[in-house]
Amino acid sequence: MKAALLFGLEDLRVVDAPDPEPGPDEVTVRVVSFAPYGTDLGVYLNRGGRYPQPYPVGVGADFSGIIDKVGAKVAGWQPGGRVSALTLAHCGTCPNCQAGRTNLCLDPAFTPPPRQVCCQEVTPVFARKLARLPNVVTFDDAAMLGGIAGALNAFDKMRP
Ligand SMILES: [Zn+2]
Repeated sequence: MKAALLFGLEDLRVVDAPDPEPGPDEVTVRVVSFAPYGTDLGVYLNRGGRYPQPYPVGVGADFSGIIDKVGAKVAGWQPGGRVSALTLAHCGTCPNCQAGRTNLCLDPAFTPPPRQVCCQEVTPVFARKLARLPNVVTFDDAAMLGGIAGALNAFDKMRP
């Protein structure tokens, strides 16, 4: 597959990389659309912050696409499904995750959460992060799901 990787400050290259295989609780998704946002710019400019990691590093987090392969323990999802996914990984079992506050996961393995990358043709995703897309939602609109959900949640909590 082709993947966009940063090899240094403002050094973005498109390279050939092996297609990822899904882990037991994952699917792989063929990326159709992705929506760059502020964190991507921070990574591109090497500002460190929440996601310091050695080069080369993948970019992009918000995306939509079509399920390619399904992991051995995944139920309810099939290849060909239209999906988007939450950006942040979470355990799904801690009290915060059970209460729907997955962005505040208490599992040390997800603090800080591993950064999802999607500026590549195929990306692995935990099945618990998937959102099924109705046919009326375009892939471009669905790639903005994370940003829209964050804004709506903030609006709801402020109760203006
Ligand atoms: Zn959790």
